Amino acid sequence: PLSLENKVALVTGAATGIGASCVEHLARMGAKVMATDIDSAAGQKAVNNLVNDGLNVAFSQHDVCLEEDWNRSVKSTLEKFGGLDILVNNAGIYIGGTLLENSLEEVRRVQQVNVDSIFLGMKTAASVMKIGAEAGKGGSIINLSSVAGLIGVPGHSAYGASKGAVRLYTKHAAVEFGKLGYNIRVNSVHPGLIKTAMGEQAFQDFVDVGLAATIDEAKEVIKTMTPLGKLGEVEDIAQMILFLASDAANFITGAEFTVDGGMSAQ
Ligand code: NAD
Repeated sequence: PLSLENKVALVTGAATGIGASCVEHLARMGAKVMATDIDSAAGQKAVNNLVNDGLNVAFSQHDVCLEEDWNRSVKSTLEKFGGLDILVNNAGIYIGGTLLENSLEEVRRVQQVNVDSIFLGMKTAASVMKIGAEAGKGGSIINLSSVAGLIGVPGHSAYGASKGAVRLYTKHAAVEFGKLGYNIRVNSVHPGLIKTAMGEQAFQDFVDVGLAATIDEAKEVIKTMTPLGKLGEVEDIAQMILFLASDAANFITGAEFTVDGGMSAQ
């Protein structure tokens, strides 16, 4: 059975959605988890609930675009939990609209949050994880991309371009860290449409770009695009992340994992 006993994880964007589910699943598998988010009120509240449930979780306020925030969160993870084995680079934003509607500012903003975060996260975490690689220590980094980082979707070009960068950043880091002997695995996860606050934005975007008349119709359109005929749950993504974080995945690096009900297989 999977176990994350004696492992320490850091999860970004952990106040809600996929990140919050991930924190809970990692902690229930035995990991000590530093949950981070730019929204300290929501993040602290989510963590308090888990602590009250007996889980070993702490919170650090953290904007993933800022190098000093990365340094501070990783330092407090080391001080509180004594190591860092797993990084889930989950925080991200979605800006929709057609390519002709998008402004340069929007494109830059989505790149900044979704791609700078991956660079800073991998850099800060790997510099800690690589210490002790010769003694068999190392780490697992999981980067959240999207089906929109694999295939074209109307209204998703700015977001999808940023998630395409996440996909390739993952592969370059995996090859480099592997060849340099760091013993750090790096993989990307590509969710389909998942029921979160961001998922709601994507439904609205389907209406805005004219692919559906109402939010309910947008949900039906997306279900039709999905061979399994349903929307995804946060747990569907958390289960994949758990596997990649664990030693069960110890020969897997530089790979991409779609969790999309078959949307991108067509
Ligand atoms: P969400 O919008 O529900 O939650 C995102 C969290 O990230 C929020 O708590 C927010 O406060 C935090 N955040 C935003 N900007 C931040 C910043 N600069 N620094 C730190 N935290 C910040 O999103 P979600 O649906 O849970 O998505 C999580 C990840 O999965 C994202 O990378 C997203 O792109 C990806 N994804 C989501 C879907 C989907 O359908 N929901 C599909 C594919 C990929």
